[in-house]
Amino acid sequence: MSPDPADKLPDLGQRGDTVTLFAGPCSVESFEQFDEAAACIRGLGLTWIRGGAYKPRTNPYSFQGLGEEGLRIMRDSARARGLKSLTEVMDTELVGLVDSHVDGIQIGARNFQNFSLLREVGRATAQSQKMVLFKRGFAGTIEEWLAASDYLSMEGNRNIVLCERGLRTFETATRFTLDISAVPVIHKLSTMPVCVDVSHAAGQRDLVPPLAKAAIAAGADSIMVEVHPNPRSAKSDSAQQLSLPQFEALVEDLRAIAAALGKTVV
Ligand code: PEP
Ligand code: MN
Repeated sequence: MSPDPADKLPDLGQRGDTVTLFAGPCSVESFEQFDEAAACIRGLGLTWIRGGAYKPRTNPYSFQGLGEEGLRIMRDSARARGLKSLTEVMDTELVGLVDSHVDGIQIGARNFQNFSLLREVGRATAQSQKMVLFKRGFAGTIEEWLAASDYLSMEGNRNIVLCERGLRTFETATRFTLDISAVPVIHKLSTMPVCVDVSHAAGQRDLVPPLAKAAIAAGADSIMVEVHPNPRSAKSDSAQQLSLPQFEALVEDLRAIAAALGKTVV
């Protein structure tokens, strides 16, 4: 019997042959704290480190980040360790400063429809084609997310990574509800790579490994994970950050899952 073409589904999980990990602390707190995470990440043969210098905090009395000093710490540590650095920009006026310190610019969930910020980041990176990691708003549809990404690309940046980071739903057992379906849906609708930020979705460190494994199995092109040398004393998102030994164990497991899909973790 000849096979019915309708029985063969496209493989929406396959894109590149690597899975990039964007790991690092929630906030840059000091050179020592950031550099210890950087040494671990580099030691595992990974390429990127993340960290927040300007933090979008719900409460104005919470730690707001080290600002420009945080950017310098990231730049110096990442350069010395041979890593690429990724950080969030929240203000249109700070795009140039942030751009001059890091290798990738993050736009956070709370700014996913801040169209003037998107335009400015798109303009500032049009020449360099620096990677922009564009998070989904926690109440945003995929259609709105893709439309918002056009504000970046229409200004000239075509190096956009879309990052799913969980949605606000009626569920309270997790910080946000991870929409794992976003991975194959984006692969179907767009050529942009998809990242899954498992830490902000989970909100609790014990949920991070299973969600990261699920994201890689679903075909995610990259994963974001918060790691901290001493998570319990972290100045932000203490409950969800992995310790360095926990992260090392996770990377080993993720490499095994990636290998089953013919991919390597970088
Ligand atoms: C972050 O990655 O540091 C962050 C604040 O994430 P989000 O914008 O997804 O809440
Ligand atoms: Mn965080």
